[in-house]
Amino acid sequence: MAESPETEHPVKAFGWAARDTSGVFSPFKFSRRETGEHDVQFKVLYCGVCHSDLHMVKNEWGMTHYPIVPGHEIVGEVTEVGSKVKKVKVGDKVGVGCLVGACRECGQCADNLENYCPKQILTYSFPDVDGTLTYGGYSNLMVANEHFIIRWPENLPLDIGAPLLCAGITTYSPLRYFGLDKPGLKVGIVGLGGLGHVAVKFAKAFGTKVTVISTSLSKKEEAISKLGADEFLVSRDQEQMQAAAGTLDGIIDTVSAAHPIIPLLSLLKPHGKLVLVGAPEKPLELPAFPLIQGRKIVAGTTMGGIKETQEMIDFAAKHNVLPDVEMIPIDYINTAMERLLKSDVKYRFVIDIAKSLKPEEDCHRRSC
Ligand SMILES: [Zn+2]
Ligand SMILES: [Zn+2]
Repeated sequence: MAESPETEHPVKAFGWAARDTSGVFSPFKFSRRETGEHDVQFKVLYCGVCHSDLHMVKNEWGMTHYPIVPGHEIVGEVTEVGSKVKKVKVGDKVGVGCLVGACRECGQCADNLENYCPKQILTYSFPDVDGTLTYGGYSNLMVANEHFIIRWPENLPLDIGAPLLCAGITTYSPLRYFGLDKPGLKVGIVGLGGLGHVAVKFAKAFGTKVTVISTSLSKKEEAISKLGADEFLVSRDQEQMQAAAGTLDGIIDTVSAAHPIIPLLSLLKPHGKLVLVGAPEKPLELPAFPLIQGRKIVAGTTMGGIKETQEMIDFAAKHNVLPDVEMIPIDYINTAMERLLKSDVKYRFVIDIAKSLKPEEDCHRRSC
């Protein structure tokens, strides 16, 4: 059974993979399964570069299987559908986000919350039901069960829109679930990276008043004039933070580095909610006093279910919620990862897969 990635399935595929914890990418040949009766196969056109990809290629969460082909903000065009597929047809534009499988039987799945299914199958570097690894969107071809395929709206650009499939749903879902989607509410967004900048746009589209909370004043101009935030707070500025105490109905905290949350709790009104969507490696300090004084909630969420992801994509198309991206060719990925580590991107890299990903030169033609 120990077949190589290149021969374990019948359909040839290629992409870029990292082979070890150095996280360095190079071209990679592998294979995809045949299109099953409920499967949709599609040509990958664009793929967003998520911060998770960076953590995963270096095995920083201790769950990586090598070789790893990351990418879970994948959009493309359907090339083949199984005989029982109803959702899409050949030629349709589609997307795949963070999930390609779930048990479809548990309570979470019954509630359309596949993202909380204990048997979920992640889009890359994850053991699939047949024991082979899943490979993500830094590749030419995808195949997935139609349940996990997102229909792409006509008027939503594929390239710019790709990051919605992770960054979008990861911030849309908590805004909705925690009721921070009502016009007039005051919502704080902590961190202005890939997730944070989309969170600002969704929160604005819901009609809330948005305060961006950041460590650096340098982002103020951009947050307000470009992303449409209403206010800006420098989290290290005691005076500013004190003046804003007790003013926010909720906060979405997108920061994935260790940071103090006590100052954030003080910004909340009584009954306010602090929702974590970033994943710092070390525990955060959480004293009881600031919580019990105002019946405040600290919560966390991850991704979103497939039904909600479709709803989010349709909402983004309708309200013109579009990430700010920098398009790159695949052979820029190693540099892109270095820049991402330094937060040197506004605000998401998207790989132009179709234009820049070429099959490795055929060895035989060079008679090697
Ligand atoms: Zn992601
Ligand atoms: Zn399930």
